[in-house]
Amino acid sequence: MRDKKVRLVLAACVLLALLSGILTLFSLRPSPKDSVIITVDGEVIYEGSATETSPRRFTVNCADGENVVLIDEHGVKVESADCPDRACVKMGYLKSANLPIVCLPHRLVISFSGASDELDAVSQ
Ligand SMILES: [Zn+2]
Repeated sequence: MRDKKVRLVLAACVLLALLSGILTLFSLRPSPKDSVIITVDGEVIYEGSATETSPRRFTVNCADGENVVLIDEHGVKVESADCPDRACVKMGYLKSANLPIVCLPHRLVISFSGASDELDAVSQ
């Protein structure tokens, strides 16, 4: 009778330990869509959170013009740009790790920074 109780307590402890271990693993592993990286001509000019509760706007100066990048609760997008095609503005919010926002005339690339980390892990 007592043995059974001890075994039950032990089983509960093991289960709890497993559960907390799994939870820790999940919380430690950053989701690829949590952080964003912005590069101009291959140079990193911003790396940080992909969402902001209070909208954040900043101007990226490129060789041939400038792009205004907006980060808000929905994500990251190019709000306005003075490039000829404005393809970067039309792309809207950054949605997929496989599809970065690119402004070809300004050599601006906005992508989720977690995506390249995963590729690195595979290639190493
Ligand atoms: Zn553009």
